[in-house]
Amino acid sequence: MDATTTPATKVATVKLLIGGKFVESKTTEWRDIVNPATQEVLAKVPFATQDEVDAAVASAKEAFKTWRKTAIGARARIFLKYQQLIREHMGELAAILTAEQGKTLPDAEGDVFRGLEVVEHAAGIGNLQLGEFANNVAGGVDTYSVLQPLGVCAGITPFNFPAMIPLWMFPMAIVTGNTFVLKPSEQDPMVTMRLCELALEAGIPPGVLNVVHGGEAVVNAICDHKDIKAISFVGSTKVGTHVYNRASLAGKRVQCMMGAKNHAIVMPDANKEQTLNALAGAAFGAAGQRCMAVSVAVLVGDARNWVSDLVEKAKTLKVGAGVDKGVDVGPLVSCAAFDRVTGLIERGVADGATLALDGRKPTVPGYEKGNFVGPTVFADVKPGMSIYEQEIFGPVLCLVGADNIDDAIELINANPNGNGTAIFTQSGAAARRFQEDIDVGQVGINVPIPVPVPMFSFTGSRASKLGDLGPYGKQVVLFYTQTKTVTSRWFDDSTVSHGVNTTIAL
Ligand code: NAD
Repeated sequence: MDATTTPATKVATVKLLIGGKFVESKTTEWRDIVNPATQEVLAKVPFATQDEVDAAVASAKEAFKTWRKTAIGARARIFLKYQQLIREHMGELAAILTAEQGKTLPDAEGDVFRGLEVVEHAAGIGNLQLGEFANNVAGGVDTYSVLQPLGVCAGITPFNFPAMIPLWMFPMAIVTGNTFVLKPSEQDPMVTMRLCELALEAGIPPGVLNVVHGGEAVVNAICDHKDIKAISFVGSTKVGTHVYNRASLAGKRVQCMMGAKNHAIVMPDANKEQTLNALAGAAFGAAGQRCMAVSVAVLVGDARNWVSDLVEKAKTLKVGAGVDKGVDVGPLVSCAAFDRVTGLIERGVADGATLALDGRKPTVPGYEKGNFVGPTVFADVKPGMSIYEQEIFGPVLCLVGADNIDDAIELINANPNGNGTAIFTQSGAAARRFQEDIDVGQVGINVPIPVPVPMFSFTGSRASKLGDLGPYGKQVVLFYTQTKTVTSRWFDDSTVSHGVNTTIAL
């Protein structure tokens, strides 16, 4: 990555990207980027100043004047090149990601790959950014619509998918003709910056993609900036709600994908081995730090007897550093996350849930300082308990019992979150019933983490989302463009009308 070593600290610094150049911030406020398996400081990230945010937006505003008129094929070809560069650098990108975020190397490649799919989708923009045309809507009159870019758009991203989520945003914003200012997570911005370097190498012109780093102050500056037209946010419900309210008040178009508490229903007729494997992977993979992680399993009828099988399955997972082969569960991203997750496990015990598997204090030889929590299973969990009400964002699975599918659906629909849900069953009728009646935006049928591929859109719902339109797919083309509808009539000598028409008719 484009980082230098300053004599004073001997630690690399992460750069800002403004006007096509990677520049050192002039800020006095820096934060360490820490390897969560070792506590090694990998680099320092600046919290940009107001002047630097203004400079990034000004550069994007200037670049928009020409970028908005760049041919759609020329825009698409940059993303064709970009997808090739990402493929060629997959191993390097995954290694950076694992070092700063903690997830296993294969999972880090998955993180990059799910973003790469959106880049491929962006390369097909010629088939997506299409208007409509109606011939002869009145005598000699045609109506057609065009989807025009908005101007400067901004993206604010979370720590848990530092490759995929930035790639949800800037490729689709830029390929539709906008320019962009990205604010990556301050916890793991290095892989995001490497992806930005490759984007410039692919041909994104200076000023079209800019990056500022920081926390609350920079996010607020983005929400308030008069020259930013739209904001895409992914992160916690608390911050997303703040961003939505503040940026909407400032007149911007905003989409916020936020926190979750994803439930999976396990019917007694489900294929047991397949279901146990799916639940363990979805609850404990990425150490539970996925917005689509399954954090609650609702065991219906005789499936309530599967608790010990689930515990045995969870015990087969290996906890360790993400760089090591054969590891299933890496460390939590930070010491603060470790304290929050272990604190919630304590609360679960105090609230009366049964700690069926305690993942605290796993032994990870060679990584004694890492933020490790192993797979943890709570049985007899009830609404009202902190571990049920809060998003734990750690490798903790809560088990709830239900007598039948009606009770299970009622429980899920009563939870405020609506990001993802799944059912495990061999009954088509039960699956159809679930799909029809469940009030959650993304539904899996024997699929534990139903994140849509990019020809569809990410469609979390209720408290997990603010704004109408989701990331990628067809929806985001509408989010990043203004529909302009043209009604046109051309006269020649034979069609010239005589007299004034004072009615509303065409
Ligand atoms: P976060 O909300 O703490 O941070 C997200 C972004 O907001 C970061 O860029 C951060 O710098 C910024 N930020 C943090 N505090 C802020 C404040 N007080 N004011 C303004 N900006 C602030 O989220 P996180 O911990 O990085 O990510 C985990 C959360 O993201 C989880 O809740 C998870 O469910 C959610 N998430 C949701 C989706 C989805 O698609 N629904 C996807 C991934 C993650």
